[in-house]
Amino acid sequence: MKVLKFGGTSVGSPERMMQVADIIAGVQGKKIVVLSAVSGTTNTLVSMSDYCENEQKDEAKKVAEELHSKYHEFVKNLYKDEAYVKSNIEFIDQKFSDINNLIEERFTEQVAKMFVAQGELISTHLFTEYLSSIGKSAVLLPALDFMALDEYAEPDLKTTKVKLENLLSSLDENVIVTQGYIARNAAGGTDNLRRGGSDYTATIVGAVLKVEEVQIWTDIDGMHNNDPRLVDNTRPLAHLSFEEASELAYFGAKVLHPSCIVPAQMNEVPVRIKNTMDPEAHGTLISNETEPEKVKALAAKDHITAIKIKSNRMVMAYGFLKRVFEVFEKYRTPIDMITTSEIAVSLTIDNSDHLKEIIEEIGKYATVEVDREQAIICIVGDHIASRKGVGTAIFEAMEEIPIRMISYGGSRNNISLLVPHDYMKDSLIKLHKALF
Ligand code: ASP
Ligand code: MG
Repeated sequence: MKVLKFGGTSVGSPERMMQVADIIAGVQGKKIVVLSAVSGTTNTLVSMSDYCENEQKDEAKKVAEELHSKYHEFVKNLYKDEAYVKSNIEFIDQKFSDINNLIEERFTEQVAKMFVAQGELISTHLFTEYLSSIGKSAVLLPALDFMALDEYAEPDLKTTKVKLENLLSSLDENVIVTQGYIARNAAGGTDNLRRGGSDYTATIVGAVLKVEEVQIWTDIDGMHNNDPRLVDNTRPLAHLSFEEASELAYFGAKVLHPSCIVPAQMNEVPVRIKNTMDPEAHGTLISNETEPEKVKALAAKDHITAIKIKSNRMVMAYGFLKRVFEVFEKYRTPIDMITTSEIAVSLTIDNSDHLKEIIEEIGKYATVEVDREQAIICIVGDHIASRKGVGTAIFEAMEEIPIRMISYGGSRNNISLLVPHDYMKDSLIKLHKALF
């Protein structure tokens, strides 16, 4: 069995959906097809939800109406058979009547989650109907029946496995379609795996079922050795280890959801990134294998906050770091980079939702300085930190750039540098020249 995931652009128009049907027909054996929402839809749903939160219901209705008519066009162009057009227009009308009811409701977090879930519910329905309209047997398996989150809103793999295996045991179809991104939370409500979460759905499903391969079909020919939006002459990487791909996904390569490699790696399920626009291209294969001691890729993550914490009494004091980390744990805020000296510790966070509380608590026993709008530049490759000459090449390339923090040797696959956001692009370009 394989899991095939198609992103928003891959199902972004009726023509693209037809092409997805061709691609899955070309893959042998049983497959679970995970779909994102049609591109643009989730953003539109988020904007509706934001309007409702700000009590601008009329604005929300206007946006809903525009999206509604877009889907009418979509349906008319997707099906040849009039009966399919008719029944799917009815489906769309029903969906938008549900959306309008959500707009009327009192706004809550739960309502927000219901809004953003609609995109995948629509795309999977339309696609399964399309397969049936061209005479292909397929079944739609609702993700809300098996994708489970725990009390911390993280995927609950055990429950997901039990539920999914149970449901699959009674299905004979070779093609099983399901929604990416959406999941059921511990309280039983509709929830999601955060933006870009369809990749995560695919690797979770692949991991719990220990499938042969997870394919992530997207609009680029794999992960590149640098950010193609910022740097010229980047190239796709044929092969990455799980560790390398994980570091890249987390530190800014936007191709994959930052957490999605973890379940695949835990269960040793290879992940292949493929290009829907160019299905013959090799793409990137992510597996257990590594190409030793090579600088593989660069990536950057911006909007990072750096925090410097200086203890008045840190010299030879133990227990200080423990107190610091406990504050971050209390506010469930992950720390990305960290460096220490005898009298201070600097660290970075991506999520600054609780920055104010964190500063207040630590400020009771230490001096805290905050620098916003920093960027982490991440250099990835197997054993790069121990490879001769890499350090020199990096520092020479970064000669003109103020480096705020360095993390070297924390992982054998990664060297990270923190620079002010304004130097991010320049750093990527200079390092690209020096390292590739
Ligand atoms: N539709 C969701 C989003 O736009 C999930 C995904 O596409 O992966 O974030
Ligand atoms: Mg994506």
